Amino acid sequence: MTSAQGKPEWRETSEYRVIRPERDTHLGGENPFESMMARFDVAAQKLNLEPGLYSVLRHPEKQIIVACPVLRDSGQVEVFTGYRILYNTARGPAKGGIRFDMGVTLDEVKALAAWMTWKCAVVNLPFGGAKGGILCDPSTMSMVELERLTRRYTSAIMDTLGPDSDVPAPDVNTNERMMAWIMDTYSMQKRHTVTAVVTGKPIEMGGSLGRREATGRGVMIVSREALKRLNMPISKQTRVVVQGFGNVGSISAELMSNLGLNIVAVSDKDGGIYNPRGLDVNDVIEHVKKEKTLKTYLNADKVTNKELLTLECEVLVPAALENVITEENAGQIKAKIIAEGANGPTSATADRILQDKGILVIPDILANAGGVTVSYFEWVQDRGGYFWDEDTVNQRLERIMVESFNEVAGMAARNGVSMRIAAYMVAIDRVAKVHRLRGMYA
Ligand code: GLU
Repeated sequence: MTSAQGKPEWRETSEYRVIRPERDTHLGGENPFESMMARFDVAAQKLNLEPGLYSVLRHPEKQIIVACPVLRDSGQVEVFTGYRILYNTARGPAKGGIRFDMGVTLDEVKALAAWMTWKCAVVNLPFGGAKGGILCDPSTMSMVELERLTRRYTSAIMDTLGPDSDVPAPDVNTNERMMAWIMDTYSMQKRHTVTAVVTGKPIEMGGSLGRREATGRGVMIVSREALKRLNMPISKQTRVVVQGFGNVGSISAELMSNLGLNIVAVSDKDGGIYNPRGLDVNDVIEHVKKEKTLKTYLNADKVTNKELLTLECEVLVPAALENVITEENAGQIKAKIIAEGANGPTSATADRILQDKGILVIPDILANAGGVTVSYFEWVQDRGGYFWDEDTVNQRLERIMVESFNEVAGMAARNGVSMRIAAYMVAIDRVAKVHRLRGMYA
């Protein structure tokens, strides 16, 4: 499958050149979509993926860019750019969150939508992948402005939305409040209540118990499985560092602490706190609830986000944004296990360095798949109109995460590849099989 130069030959086609991303948009200079494709290429070669199917899978099915005018509280009108990308729907309705962030670009959303496709396939959910984003700084907007923006965006992407076609969820800087507005806007236009159009909703309106904690719970489960595999203790001897203290980071820290591990450092966008003897995670969570920042927490030393990543620890959980582990700092990382709570925290070049150092990286598409797994449960419950208790949700999540971890670890062992490449192989194989079965619609 490779040319004399060692490159996959299908990358040499004019088709590939035409769709080169326009610009680098992210920290570390690595374009997020190309970073995703670099891993995809390796896995596709290992699977001997046929060139035609390779071409299909490197193209998003549908890319929507919308202008969202919003009346600001000041009386001025501001126009925000929103994106929704349906990457692949071969296995089912497109599934994936919507983020509100100043880093949102078309390439970022494209990469995130592709990751959702592989993520849903790794854990074998009957979903395709999508992602949405609005380029905005929600911290500078009032609740009313955020509501107007969310509703306008929902209305603008109305044609793709629907329980059978495209089902959004929360992501960076979005939460159940925005999901409620999305559900309401969609339902008002359809003239009846449609709960299954969005997941991560408040419990009172068709949300699932356990959804809020699901991504963090999944991170805890796969970290525990990785520790077991490396014969490392599940006790205070095992130190954990968590970057990011939003929904994923804070709940990962809380559940890993409940499991008996020692959380020594956590951070948010303002910086981190570190205590080599261990932090009282509940106290930190209480502090952040009140103060909205870790900056003012006094019972620990201060560290920068950069320093935090290279602290002495056994498990590192990057649970913030993309491209934080790059070729610059990968060599200094001391953890034995990295559990990627965020999407895309490790650049493609850093991957190689981590692998050479023998660090076990549990890749994002597996490590943070707990969220979308319980989103799937929520969608199933909404469609059936019958709701499960929290234990049932957690038990079913536990089973899917452990099985998926073992499947990916098995694929890695059989093929002598990293867990990341193995996860891509499991996912691509599943998506490719469905494409072959469905055949080409012409
Ligand atoms: N935004 C989450 C993710 O990246 C959840 C997506 C979903 O539940 O659809 O996995």
